[in-house]
Amino acid sequence: MKYAIVDGIKTEAAKGITGICANCGSMLIAKCGELRINHWAHKGERNCDPWWENETEWHRSWKGLFPTAWQEVLHFAKDGEKHIADVKTSNDWVLEFQHSYINPVERRSRTNFYGKIVWIVDGTRRKTDMKQFLSWISTGAQVSPKNPIFKASFPEECRLLKEWEDSNALVFFDFGQAAKEGDSLLWLVFPKITNGIAYVAYFSKKRFVELHTTGQFDIFAQNELNEIMKIIRDGIAQKNATNYRSALLSKTERQVRNIRRRGI
Ligand SMILES: [Zn+2]
Repeated sequence: MKYAIVDGIKTEAAKGITGICANCGSMLIAKCGELRINHWAHKGERNCDPWWENETEWHRSWKGLFPTAWQEVLHFAKDGEKHIADVKTSNDWVLEFQHSYINPVERRSRTNFYGKIVWIVDGTRRKTDMKQFLSWISTGAQVSPKNPIFKASFPEECRLLKEWEDSNALVFFDFGQAAKEGDSLLWLVFPKITNGIAYVAYFSKKRFVELHTTGQFDIFAQNELNEIMKIIRDGIAQKNATNYRSALLSKTERQVRNIRRRGI
């Protein structure tokens, strides 16, 4: 963990000091070596929160964009279950920074537990993810001329999308793509609303952070995002009405097309 409680204050690990875990109250040891980033560890290294993921530079640089008070915050469910949220904003949005693979069952329990959750996924862990994602997107089309929203079929051809496209929460992929000065691009993966097609949009990382730090993310989710979802839904409804061909493709046809596309 990044923080332990030392003399009542959230404190980062430093050589030779000990602290208390805000979650379980046990003693934490500061680990400041060369192999891993400075962190606090429980005795025996096992974290008291089974959902805890060992942190990388990527986690830390994301967390560091938010106030200390928002980082590593205990979130309680009504039944008393508690977990450490990577970031919990003053508007109760939980931001989970996910570096390693997470199985769908745990992903769903975490999403249900936190409710107002946004997943930010490290797209740089596997070398092939960004390449696959960009190649997948190149087969798609822009949904509306005004918005940078794209749709494409066969999301399962991109491994990262395959792992996340059925999420009913907001997901942002972070491939570390540079954008205009001091900014980088994130890819918003819209909650799944139809089978076989995924909708994504590029999104400024700077804006994402600002929407949270200025307390505007709720307004964004209620207005802008809902409007985009409406554009997508209307598009689907229109296509259904005009018997859009891909909607009628039988499973066999799809498989044949799949094989052709892969050039097998
Ligand atoms: Zn603990």
